[in-house]
Amino acid sequence: MKVCPKCGTKALRMTEMRPRASGVPANRMRRRCLNCGHGETTYEITADQMKQFEDLLRLDAAVAAYMNVAKPDSCTDCIHWTRHGCSMGLPEAGGNFANDCSLFENETA
Ligand SMILES: [Zn+2]
Repeated sequence: MKVCPKCGTKALRMTEMRPRASGVPANRMRRRCLNCGHGETTYEITADQMKQFEDLLRLDAAVAAYMNVAKPDSCTDCIHWTRHGCSMGLPEAGGNFANDCSLFENETA
């Protein structure tokens, strides 16, 4: 028996196990504590599935890091900015518009 995460007693007993069904990627297990009645559900996946999951987490973290890259403060930092304004012809360009502009590029980006 496993240790109950709620009361700490080694009294967590498996009460149900559903094998992997179509559309469900893992075996489902249900445990209940004989001491306090706490119940929990866990899913068992293969090592290959775990690696795929870890790869997805890494990809998600990379996307989040990319999305959090500091945005420019001003259109004047953009390579498309000229002394006549935005060379891409965006009439709303200027100042803080750079934060929302999908065409913004600078030397370091
Ligand atoms: Zn318990």
